[in-house]
Amino acid sequence: MTTDSLAFLDRDRLELGPAASSEKVDHQHWRLARDEDGIAWLLLDRADSGANTLDEAVLEELDLVLETLEHDPPKALVLRSGKRAGFCVGADVGMFRGETDTASVAERLRRGHVIVDRLAELPVPTIAVIHGPCLGGGLELALACDYRLAVEGASLGFPEVMLGLHPGLGGTFRAPRLINPVDAMTLMLTGKSVNARRARALGLVDAVTQERHVANAVRAAARGDVNRSRRPFYAAALDSAWVRPLIARRMIVNTEKKVDRKHYPSPYQLIDLWQHHAGDVARAREEEIQSFARLVTSKTGQNLIRVFFLREALKKAEGENNGGGIGHVHVVGAGTMGGDIAGWCALSGFRVTLSDMDPAMIAGAVKRARQLCRRKHRSDIATRDILDRLIPDTSGSGVTRADLIIEAVPEKIDIKRSVYREIEERMKAGAILATNTSSIPLETLRSEVREPARFLGLHFFNPVARMQLVELVSHDGTDAGVRDRARAFVAAIDRLPVPVRSAPGFLVNRVLTPYLLEAMLLLDEGMAPETLDRAAVDFGMPMGPIELADQVGLDICLDVAEMLRDNLGGDIPEVPAWVRDKVEKGDTGRKSGRGFYAWSDDGPRKNEAATPPKGTVDRLVLPLLNTCVACLREEVVADPDALDAAVIFGTGFAPFRGGPLHYARERGVDDIVGALEKLAEEHGPRFAPDKGWQQLR
Ligand code: NAD
Repeated sequence: MTTDSLAFLDRDRLELGPAASSEKVDHQHWRLARDEDGIAWLLLDRADSGANTLDEAVLEELDLVLETLEHDPPKALVLRSGKRAGFCVGADVGMFRGETDTASVAERLRRGHVIVDRLAELPVPTIAVIHGPCLGGGLELALACDYRLAVEGASLGFPEVMLGLHPGLGGTFRAPRLINPVDAMTLMLTGKSVNARRARALGLVDAVTQERHVANAVRAAARGDVNRSRRPFYAAALDSAWVRPLIARRMIVNTEKKVDRKHYPSPYQLIDLWQHHAGDVARAREEEIQSFARLVTSKTGQNLIRVFFLREALKKAEGENNGGGIGHVHVVGAGTMGGDIAGWCALSGFRVTLSDMDPAMIAGAVKRARQLCRRKHRSDIATRDILDRLIPDTSGSGVTRADLIIEAVPEKIDIKRSVYREIEERMKAGAILATNTSSIPLETLRSEVREPARFLGLHFFNPVARMQLVELVSHDGTDAGVRDRARAFVAAIDRLPVPVRSAPGFLVNRVLTPYLLEAMLLLDEGMAPETLDRAAVDFGMPMGPIELADQVGLDICLDVAEMLRDNLGGDIPEVPAWVRDKVEKGDTGRKSGRGFYAWSDDGPRKNEAATPPKGTVDRLVLPLLNTCVACLREEVVADPDALDAAVIFGTGFAPFRGGPLHYARERGVDDIVGALEKLAEEHGPRFAPDKGWQQLR
């Protein structure tokens, strides 16, 4: 047998190395062969995709394979992936897209369960060998096997909750029966993955091995020489019918702190399944099917599936797919943004030089990068490598070697221009020059740039490690190839690039500003900040506009609002004078400890919120929608889906509503235009419906 058992996974080289001499059968998505020890190796290798996902065709084919194995049982069955990319990333989400028929989904799921149960009941030892991601439905397949062997580097998890769902192929009852049920529920409720070692500690896998030892580990498992992980002795008590309700209550209380039941029912349904049906597998199976079918056909489920595809579309970088051919990034300015951008790029595998006129800023950025590694659970060795890649560069010599230079110096035209003059002389041919400006039009900045074709904006949001969106800003002279390379780079650092045109405020700040300003006007009218914030959170925003303004910084909000007013005129309401006074006094929000709220390490200090008066949400949200429509009409962004995605990932706009334009269409364009007209009559022309609504009708 080869020492590198992955060698036989390479489809182009060898079909099934260890078993080359014996019978082998290729199906469309599965490959089966027996080795000289009589062990059957069944490899999932989806024909039509670079990553393994499960759908009906894949499962039906598995059913056929299992049938042949039942007639002529091998000594053991190994289930693994035929792709280097990993085991299986879960169900093909596309199969539920647009699905509204609950009964038909339930029927399809029942069929899936029959096949997975067939695997679970195969009368020979079944061994899942897991490398890379093993998620959702992939993990559910593995859970139906007798043994799970994880290869170092594997990651296991149930991400369904992020799509407003929960596991639907037996995970909700198999996982809590295999390991400590509270750990199993935590995995499913958080959607977070665990690495191979943690999976071993939890008992989710029986052993962790290295790729070169897989063949031996499989033989040992087939002989029964691998100890199967055991549930801890107290797990049965936690799972008993009288303890479950107590634990479930605690889970509900914790979940309520994070998500609203009416917007995101899936974690609540998941807890309910465990609390009421964990004791009876047949019942648990049917209840899981029913619950999943209800979720996936609900408006929330469908909208979150939509958001999944919006994200996929943003990630699909055009042109070169190798990070845009960029290996070395140089960042100028190691402040809040530049320092964190540099740390993030180093974490993502890029070589980074970081310069600043103040060496203390660079030192601070390196310290933050170390903290980032800890937050991202990087090992000591990985952290050392990441910090080795982040090179302090007080002399700015990295400019000459960099493929991409990101400027993140203060938002002052003169400072930025002088930086360009200084670095452009030393940049190598073909290198890209990007600015992180949040508001200065690129047309203004490019006048001092010698080669405007290679100049564009990469507008990251604060905090860089949490905000996934990056606006990829082009001016009319940006070379399309440069833009594509920059886009591929942004995708390579695991951020979501949205191409936008250089226009005042670009997209995200432009749509957010009328929403924040309207909130300030409502405060002016006497509404309590807590009540206002509650209205927005009830709508589904992650936080209210008042808290958000404090988080962003009232000084930054004021600057952006003024810039937009200067450029767009009367459409943007004036910032109330008392907000300006606050900024002058230094009450700039969270960073100074005082803004609209007083802030401590625990967050803003808030009083009890009253029930928001009727119409509050419309006053906040409709100006945002109206601006989205204006941006689409002005072609700040190319299409409605990119706009929806950018506003969701850039502002947190209620994901379960599928995006602002999708929400507008679902609610009805006429209804919204009518509401805007009424608001315009009551509060002034800032609410006048944009003429772009005509196109959406
Ligand atoms: P900052 O003040 O925190 O950092 C700027 C850094 O640039 C400082 O460390 C300063 O020492 C350094 N610097 C100044 N002049 C320099 C020069 N000539 N050469 C090298 N370094 C120099 O600013 P920030 O908040 O990080 O903002 C940087 C840019 O990012 C601005 O264009 C801003 O509009 C944009 N931006 C900021 C945010 C935010 O929330 N802070 C969000 C998005 C974009």
